[in-house]
Amino acid sequence: MNINERLALVKFKKGKESHLSADHDVCMRCEKKYCTFICPADVYEWNEEKCLMTIRYENCLECGACKIACDKKNIVWNYPNAGDGVKYKNG
Ligand code: SF4
Ligand code: SF4
Repeated sequence: MNINERLALVKFKKGKESHLSADHDVCMRCEKKYCTFICPADVYEWNEEKCLMTIRYENCLECGACKIACDKKNIVWNYPNAGDGVKYKNG
């Protein structure tokens, strides 16, 4: 089973507000953008043309890797509100 097939077994309940955020000005100056490489669910996407970071928080697996990987300590990470977020059982 490949990673896409595994992710298809995971169910998400989208919260009304993002549980992840990052200061745009800091991201703009960030050279490495580790968050866009480390996330197993492709939550972070940097658009070079628009100079814009998209955070697809509804796909977050709540692994915490992005918070550790961001060398600027720029990611504010909270658990989603109760009942929201990822469900690992019964996809
Ligand atoms: S690694 Fe941190 S500072 Fe850099 S783009 Fe990602 S969130 Fe922004
Ligand atoms: S917690 Fe994990 S899955 Fe969620 S955005 Fe960060 S790296 Fe991606």
